[in-house]
Amino acid sequence: MYWQKELETMEDARIRRLQLKRLRETVRAASRSTFYRERFQQLGLSPEDICTLDSLRKLPFTTKNDLRQAYPFGFLAVPKGRVVRMHASTGTTGRSTVVFYTRADLDQWTDLVARCMVMTGARQGDVFQNMTGYGLFTGGLGFHYAAERLGIFTIPIGSGNTRRQIHMMREFETTVIHCIPSFALYMVHSLHAMGIDPRRDLPLRIAFLGAEPHSEHVRRKVEELYGVDAFNSYGLSEMYGPGVAFECPAKDGMHLWEDAYLPEIVDPGTGEPVEDGAKGELVLTSLGREAMPLLRYRTGDLTAFCTGECGCGRRHRRIRRIIGRADDMFIIKGVNIFPTQVEEALLGMEEVGNNYQIILKRKDYTDIMTVTVEVQERFFRGDPQEREQLRRRMAKRLREELLVTPDIELLKPGALESTGGKAVRVVDKRDIYEGGISDT
Ligand code: AMP
Ligand code: ZN
Repeated sequence: MYWQKELETMEDARIRRLQLKRLRETVRAASRSTFYRERFQQLGLSPEDICTLDSLRKLPFTTKNDLRQAYPFGFLAVPKGRVVRMHASTGTTGRSTVVFYTRADLDQWTDLVARCMVMTGARQGDVFQNMTGYGLFTGGLGFHYAAERLGIFTIPIGSGNTRRQIHMMREFETTVIHCIPSFALYMVHSLHAMGIDPRRDLPLRIAFLGAEPHSEHVRRKVEELYGVDAFNSYGLSEMYGPGVAFECPAKDGMHLWEDAYLPEIVDPGTGEPVEDGAKGELVLTSLGREAMPLLRYRTGDLTAFCTGECGCGRRHRRIRRIIGRADDMFIIKGVNIFPTQVEEALLGMEEVGNNYQIILKRKDYTDIMTVTVEVQERFFRGDPQEREQLRRRMAKRLREELLVTPDIELLKPGALESTGGKAVRVVDKRDIYEGGISDT
């Protein structure tokens, strides 16, 4: 089943022709933003110099840092009056990465997500419970409008509130869900506590799992526990949101919609393209986007192109399950966090010592983030109440900065003294990437 059959089944040569046409438009559009106008000037290039797909490599990469520096409007390529919506990437309350959409952008994005949903077999007659955050996060509204475009009964419940989710699923006979994988696993405890066996008692048949790294093992587990077909959903707010790449029923990699994105996979160290099928960092150029075209954007996500054709009939190239990050960003409960955010929040407090470490664990399928931090010696001599108060203040501060509440463990000065090498800021014990490339 297809949503845009012609585009989805287009053969390779036609995809490349369409990409080139859209690339040229995109480069021209991008050059209207302050950021790219200056960049082209610095390089002594004009948009017309990008006249083949390969010549795109004349341009340097665009990074998340560029987006932050140009906050809020440096990447906007249309007059502000043409913007109809904005979103932001998860995980920060401060200068975040914001993205803008014109009406046509929302239209293109909605079609891309609709394509993904139809590809997995979702259709009118289904009841779709959208269990991811609405608002600035792209996951909620991105799927919402696509489902409505398909004429699917949609429950915009948003994230959290497990018991309510379960009541809704039962009472409205939900057949399709969208959530982060760790929530799907977490919800199983509540289902069991409520005496519900999802396989027996719920008519669920499809789950879209996205927004955070997960393994093939986790997919299988969700499929077994719920009796559903689970599909990996990949996207990032900088590229609209969900709907960048998605699994088809073959579940052998995710089709990346090449009429809307021009993908490269590069060595994160050298920036040079890796051999076909080798692992590297995904770099994306948006095609056809109006409000905020991005050229050679470094996603930070590590993956590889799948080789060979897919049996489903779609020609768009597939990428492997994301197997890690090229930078130190990590994702907790679907929220992106950089260690520097933790650092900035903590080091602003005079009680804090020199070192901290973030430890990530998973218990009962829930992510637990513990921040261990050295504080002044006096907190270990005086009243333990004071230590407790400090702990609470820190948790609050981090919660305000990160939008996630960590556990805090206070340590004496020197407890985290490094061995001389580069400080290890994040210790991830969650084993989320197990079953990565070789397993898929
Ligand atoms: P955001 O911009 O807040 O939506 O976060 C986007 C990031 O979430 C991506 O760059 C990935 O690191 C991560 N992400 C999204 N979908 C997936 C997925 N299916 N598998 C692994 N990581 C994902
Ligand atoms: Zn396929």
